[in-house]
Amino acid sequence: MSLELEHDCPECGNDAFWQTASTNVHLGEKTKYRCTECDYGLVLINGVDSSEH
Ligand SMILES: [Zn+2]
Repeated sequence: MSLELEHDCPECGNDAFWQTASTNVHLGEKTKYRCTECDYGLVLINGVDSSEH
């Protein structure tokens, strides 16, 4: 099973991410994705973008 996410990459404009990790944290489910075209990493908590800026 491959887990893919449609999301615009701010680095390269690509719109596809692969899930790389999923862990449970106190806030809920934390899921990490990586852009399929560059190394940009995206972190979602319960499906909401929570990247640390
Ligand atoms: Zn990218």
